[in-house]
This record gives sequence, C-alpha cells and structure tokens, in this order.
Amino acid sequence: MFGRTPKKSDNTKYYEVLGVSKNASQDDLKKAYRKAAIKNHPDKGGDPEKFKELAQAYEVLSDPEKREIYDQYGEDALKEGMGGGGGGHDPFDIFQSFFGGSPFGGGGSSRGRRQRRGEDVIHPLKVSLEDLYNGISKKLSLSRNVICSKCKGKGSKSGASMKCSGCQGSGMKVSIRQLGPSMIQQMQHPCNECKGTGETINDKDRCPQCKGEKVVQEKKVLEVVVEKGMQNGQKITFPGEADEAPDCITGDIVFVLQQKEHPKFKRKGDDIFYEHTLSLTEALCGFHFVLTHLDNRQLLIKSNPGEVVKPDQFKAINDEGMPMYQRPFMRGKLYIHFTVDFPESLSPEQCKALEGVLPPRTASQLTDMELDECEETTMHDVNIEEEMRRKQAQAQEAYDEDEDTHGGAQRVQCAQQ
Ligand SMILES: [Zn+2]
Ligand SMILES: [Zn+2]
Repeated sequence: MFGRTPKKSDNTKYYEVLGVSKNASQDDLKKAYRKAAIKNHPDKGGDPEKFKELAQAYEVLSDPEKREIYDQYGEDALKEGMGGGGGGHDPFDIFQSFFGGSPFGGGGSSRGRRQRRGEDVIHPLKVSLEDLYNGISKKLSLSRNVICSKCKGKGSKSGASMKCSGCQGSGMKVSIRQLGPSMIQQMQHPCNECKGTGETINDKDRCPQCKGEKVVQEKKVLEVVVEKGMQNGQKITFPGEADEAPDCITGDIVFVLQQKEHPKFKRKGDDIFYEHTLSLTEALCGFHFVLTHLDNRQLLIKSNPGEVVKPDQFKAINDEGMPMYQRPFMRGKLYIHFTVDFPESLSPEQCKALEGVLPPRTASQLTDMELDECEETTMHDVNIEEEMRRKQAQAQEAYDEDEDTHGGAQRVQCAQQ
C-alpha cells in the first residue's frame, strides 16, 4: 500500500444502504442506523446479510476519518488500510455498542456477545525419517496464555472497565499520512493504550494476579504422537490449546512435521530410494552388501547368479518401503539405484585379457581408403551439468540486460508524466 495512489472505488453504497444522502449529518446517520438495525436484526427475523451491511456502513460513516477516506477514495481504500483482510467489526458488537445493551428490553439479546475465534498457534516440528518410519512420541513444553483465575478474565477486582479514551472503545486507531498531492497512506492498527481491547481498567482496581492483563502465562506439556507413515508437512492438531483470551473461542495448537534430510534414504510417498555404487567387477560378476534399514534391521542385498547390473539401473524390494499412514502393516517399496564405478584406464594387457572373455568389439571394418577420406577429430572430457549451468546463466544475463533497458525506459516515462 505504501506509496500507491488508492484507486477510486465505489463510494456511494454505504449511503444507499443506510438510505441517507451524501451530506447526511451524524445525527441523520444515527437515526437511519437505529431504525434499520432494529428492523433487520436477525433476532427479530431480519436478514443477517442486510444487518451486517448496515453495521459496516454505519461503522465507516460514523467515523469522520473513515468517512473522509470513503468519500474520497471509496470502499477499497478502507479495505486496503485494514490490511487487506476486509477488516470491520462484528455487526453485533457495533449494534450493542450503539444501543449500549438490548433495544428489545428484557435481559439483553438472546444471542449475547458474539464470540470471536482466537488465532491458531503453528509450530514446526522437526522429525527424522526414522521417526516417520518407526513412529515416536515427543513431549513438548509450551507456554500459553490462560484466563486469569483470580478475576475470571475481567482484569479488575470489581469486574468494571471503562471505555478506552484513546480509541473511543473501538480498539483500533487510524493514522493517515499525506505522501504527495494525491497520495495518502492510511493505516489501521490496534490501539496502543488498550492493546486493541477498547477498554481500560482503573489502576487501583487492577487484578493483582494478572495486573489487569486478564490472562496469565502457564506452562503446559503436550505429548505429540508422530504416527508411523506420517508425511513431511502433515499437521498434528491440539484443538483449543492455543492462547486463551476473554470472549474468545480458543484456537488450536498445530504442529507441522518437517522431515530432516536423511543422509542415505530419500522418501517419495510410501517408497524409499537408496543410492548404491558398485565397482565394475561387482556390476559384471555379482555383489552382495548389507543395508541398515531405518529400524536398524540389517538387510542382505545380493545379485542373482550370472546377473549383470547396468549403470543407472533401479531394483526394488517389495514391502521394505515406508509404512502407510494408519495402515502401518502395509508398506511401500525400497528402490535401490545403482551407479557403476568404471576404471579410469586399462593397460593393453588388461584389454587383451578382457577381449578374451567379453563379446568381440563391434567396430566396423573400415578400409584404409575409407579412413583416409574421414576427418580427424579430438574428443575432450566435459562436465555436462556444469556446461549446461553456464549456458543457462549466460542466457539469463542476456535476458536481464534486456529487461534493464526496458524497465529503465518505463521509469523515465513515468517521471515525465
Ligand atoms: Zn486477573
Ligand atoms: Zn484504546
């Protein structure tokens, strides 16, 4: 939002919703809202959407600062100022603060105070691949806010509180900064005097246990059970264990599993991949080796008699992959990817010995004349990955330069306007 000129958006709707003219006085607005809000209150069978619209319109137009922004730039400017979330308060709260209780008489609205939902607290939880394979339970100690037991979350000894003078009880403050002739920056932020609660408590009346904060910190140990086969990114939720706050439904504590890289195994879904390098002799003549699994079992991996393993070949062992989540008796596959280590060079004697046992060379029989007609070439070694990386970087550089000239031209144009 910073430095941007707000777009002009609709700035008549709120007046239409309340059925008043654009130059309506604060008194006109109050009368219009009172009449319409009572008529459309959901407790009296009114339409909840209409009731919400009325509250929204009244909330903006009854605040001179917000009304000015709305008149000048429209609804979107206010929304942007509220941090993109659309903002606004509970329509029932607005209704209640307007009437200071129930306008229907009796013991107050049957609905009572609408409860907000507190935020969820999200923690990453690092686990190893072994943890996900075997399952594990981890005890974690967390500190959280709980409603003060002494004042039951009132913050005061008497239970009384006063409307905050810093924000007129709304809990929010709006600040406007002029950034240029047709540019404003408007920000809404929680009131610092009442920490967004809209209330203040008399110093002498403060609850001694929570110092008027209404909540106190408490240590809590949670046992997080990581089940066999759980995935990286999977969530484990503890409902209603997040910070408590007055008049709030407590949010959840959510642990998000983050699997640490394993030095030997890679997981893909329910399967596990393992890298193994063979010498050329092993690839040609057979091999066996011991693979230590994620539960420390020793698996004997061996080739079939007479079998040749080719470079880059995969083999799989059934039911030695990851256990499936909530069906741990079912398992994926264990894939082994083979790399073959070739010797750097061979002596003429070694070549002769190999030619004696391996299939003959397939080199075509070229005559001296045919050879004479060919051009000589020299091959050199390349690291193909590095070559490709370098070429891509060069292309990117050329593209960036191109972008720079274009972007620069645009900026100059803007400045001239
Ligand atoms: Zn207290
Ligand atoms: Zn305040």
